[in-house]
Amino acid sequence: CGVFGVRDPQQPAAHLTYLGLFALQHRGQESAGIAVSDGDKIMIDKDMGLVATIFDEHRLQALPGTLAIGHTRYATTGASAWRNAQPVARHAGDVFFALGHNGNLVNTVELAIGHPDADADSDSDVVAALVADALLADAIATAADKTAANKAAADKAAANRTAADKAAAGPEAAAGEIGSTGHDAGVAEKPGNGDLIAALTSVLPRLQGAYSFVVMDETRLIGARDPNGFRPLFLGRCETGGWVLASETPALDVVSAKVVREIDPGEMVVIDDDGVHSIQFAEPARKALCSFEFVYIARPDGKLAGVGVHAARRRMGRALARQSPVDADMVMPIPDSSIPGAQGYAAESGIEYGDGLIKNRYIGRTFIAPNQQLRENAVRIKFNAIEDNVAGKKLVVVEDSIVRATTLRSTMKLLRDAGAAEIHLRVLSAPYRWSCFYGLDTSDRSKLIAATMSVEQIREHLGADSLAYLELDEMLTAISPEPGGFCTACMTGDYPVPVPGLVV
Ligand code: SF4
Repeated sequence: CGVFGVRDPQQPAAHLTYLGLFALQHRGQESAGIAVSDGDKIMIDKDMGLVATIFDEHRLQALPGTLAIGHTRYATTGASAWRNAQPVARHAGDVFFALGHNGNLVNTVELAIGHPDADADSDSDVVAALVADALLADAIATAADKTAANKAAADKAAANRTAADKAAAGPEAAAGEIGSTGHDAGVAEKPGNGDLIAALTSVLPRLQGAYSFVVMDETRLIGARDPNGFRPLFLGRCETGGWVLASETPALDVVSAKVVREIDPGEMVVIDDDGVHSIQFAEPARKALCSFEFVYIARPDGKLAGVGVHAARRRMGRALARQSPVDADMVMPIPDSSIPGAQGYAAESGIEYGDGLIKNRYIGRTFIAPNQQLRENAVRIKFNAIEDNVAGKKLVVVEDSIVRATTLRSTMKLLRDAGAAEIHLRVLSAPYRWSCFYGLDTSDRSKLIAATMSVEQIREHLGADSLAYLELDEMLTAISPEPGGFCTACMTGDYPVPVPGLVV
């Protein structure tokens, strides 16, 4: 998923959020939504589909205000349906808040216990329900505190009056012959509204797994990142002085905001009229930024943890060329995310770089076709081969990763049909053998081809002449020379946050 938030008194927030979501469209194409506040009330507009197909000028004009959050959804927990589109919103007393979530929690079932109103299928809805409950609890506790404070103040006032009465009555009275004037019990406070920041501070440490949140009430923009830092979240500053939160830096670029910094693991930032306030709601845990952000999730024009994604992918390609060289005529990517890796492979190997496949730019998700012939047609909607470039050639075909391999086999056939003499498949990441529970929808391990087949079986299945994956150590070194700090669970089974019920 992609999350975005902006608080800029100088600019229309819904329009900026639209641009930010547009730049984050690659992180989720199932639904999108914007919540906006005019300082008084929050309005939400969300729908299934792509940002550009949901929102037009008319719809954005109906969302006035200078504070907004937005979300593009890729379903991990919960069905791809309107009810699960985000931002999600809740009332608690007079407090109304909205939140958008990138990541996936591993203890949703446990968290949902005692919250029959929450949709246990959606971790984000469960979090909203927990925050609403914490708001009500905070309101009741605050009212109780105020009642106790009223009583203490009343007791003190009564004691003062008694002492004054005794002093006025002289020494004998002071010895106790004149009775106390008594006191009232103090005024009982009715529960008012809880504090959203206090509610979040109490709820967030209970969440396990991956989360980067954007949250808002009528006046404040809030961002929070899990203690492992699985998913990215950036803070940016607009030229006009406003503040922006976004999953990736290109979403800051598109609204002319400068990167200030990343939100730290375990940190919450609260942005109000006075600026940015930082709260460390949990100690940072083992650093575990998703290494697949560098492989294919994040945009290549962005930076994560100070590392340029495009440059990291190029280095992966260079490392792959050193590790698994091959005699060939042309290096070609499977577009788009493999392009920098293929460029790196070509530069390192000295083999000419070329295009063998053209990708249809207007494709969203390919639909699941009911039979093999239709599936092959679906691949042709997405890719077509440039016959003149591939016919009779020995090809190095670079792919960022192989997860289920549902379309890759058909893509290989496309190249064969176009006359490729040899296909040497090179993969920029290590074999994807384990399910991700932190934000990629791969929970059914039986569908992961590397979990059930050897590399040789996969090569045969795909119809390639040779197949090589980049070694994990090489992949991590290509991302960053600093050791550690990344989640690699889908390649190693080493889960930074334990997954209940999972046997590794
Ligand atoms: Fe990323 Fe893989 Fe870890 Fe999931 S399991 S967060 S995809 S590295």
